[in-house]
Amino acid sequence: MQQTIFALATGNQTAALSVIRVSGEDSERILKKLTLKNTPAERILTLRNFYFPENNKKLIDRCLVVWMPAPRSYTGEDCIEIYSHGGDAVFQAFFAALMSFPNVRYAEQGEFSKRAIINGKTDLVKAEAVNDLINALTEKQRELATSQFNRGLSIPIMKWRKEILRCMSLIEANIDFSDESDTPESVNITHELLILREQVKGAIKNKDYYELVNKGIKVVFKGKPNAGKSSIFNSILKKQKAIVSNTPGTTRDIIEGQINFKGHAINFYDTAGIAKTEDNIEREGIRRTRKLLKEADIILNITEDDNFLPKTHSKKEWLVLNKIDRSKKTKKNLKGKAILVSAKTGEGLEEILQRIHKEVIKKTKSLNDPKNIILNLRQAKELEEAELNITKALEEKSEEIISEHLRQANRSLERIIGTIDVEEVLGNIFSNFCIGK
Ligand code: GDP
Repeated sequence: MQQTIFALATGNQTAALSVIRVSGEDSERILKKLTLKNTPAERILTLRNFYFPENNKKLIDRCLVVWMPAPRSYTGEDCIEIYSHGGDAVFQAFFAALMSFPNVRYAEQGEFSKRAIINGKTDLVKAEAVNDLINALTEKQRELATSQFNRGLSIPIMKWRKEILRCMSLIEANIDFSDESDTPESVNITHELLILREQVKGAIKNKDYYELVNKGIKVVFKGKPNAGKSSIFNSILKKQKAIVSNTPGTTRDIIEGQINFKGHAINFYDTAGIAKTEDNIEREGIRRTRKLLKEADIILNITEDDNFLPKTHSKKEWLVLNKIDRSKKTKKNLKGKAILVSAKTGEGLEEILQRIHKEVIKKTKSLNDPKNIILNLRQAKELEEAELNITKALEEKSEEIISEHLRQANRSLERIIGTIDVEEVLGNIFSNFCIGK
């Protein structure tokens, strides 16, 4: 028998209300026992007194509760939600009461969503979108999560699955009847598979956009020691997170900070300057810096030397001349050649942010087109696998083997929406979920 689970759906801080969620077949029995009353009308908020099960005169709380019998609940199971008064002692008392029932336990991370998927109430893409929504810090992250929920990847996946299954059935019918003289010698599904592969490829193309919005754009600082990287970093983040010092090489490790600029997440990384060194710790810092520079969306190459501007190595590398407060002449001579800033006075820092913002808008333009399919890295990986199997099917002559490749492609699609390998896939994803979801 499946256990009944419960968890706090709200944050565990002192607040006016806490929501305790209970799901499983014991829900109704628990509700009756704790309230000493009949089950309230379904899906209607009802005021009830809750009592400790071992002492039915001792009140836990007087609060609203909603009864949602299966299948009309989030998990598809019998559910109750208790809107208790906020505060640690209140929900702890409820937890103690719930724990006293046999076969009832605290939920694991994402377990409510897992049950919702298993019971066909939602799919994995939507559950991931809900999780993104819960974790959204910026307006763009919220927009992305809701659009993924409403018009997300599930829709094309369903379409592609149907097409693969249709191709498979055409081939299998041919294999089954190949002994009979009136069936054609082979079925030609090349055209269908080519179209399918193009559509899948088109979706994979967008994989970076999702990460860019959800994780934020990566802006990495580079430059000689003492150029003022940490000072710029601190001024932008408006808090003293990085070590600012005039001894070269103080910033040995990477320091990271995120800001929300016009609804977009921007991640800044202050790095160890790349200079020759004998110091092992510093060397490690430099190694990490190199890796980060490779992954960066934008590199800010910061210099303080207005006589000699360093060369930039790629389009993503922008030149920033710091300490312009020291010389008025610099401004006139170097305008247009670098972004001119002063960490000390704050001049030019807004321009850096505006330019980064412009770049984000440029890079994420296609997210606004509803025709575009948006996907996260996990989903992209599965789609790449599906694409590979479609390609193999296209190159293959034997119908049995074509069929097998298509089956594999279909499995990748099923893993995306969570109709197969649920436990395995979900285990990974839900470890990032909050308990009450
Ligand atoms: P980093 O090694 O590149 O991270 O450089 P720091 O941020 O530690 O700065 C090195 C020195 O330059 C410190 O003494 C800072 O106070 C100074 N500094 C940084 N930015 C400016 C600036 O815009 N103007 C002036 N005059 N000094 C600055």
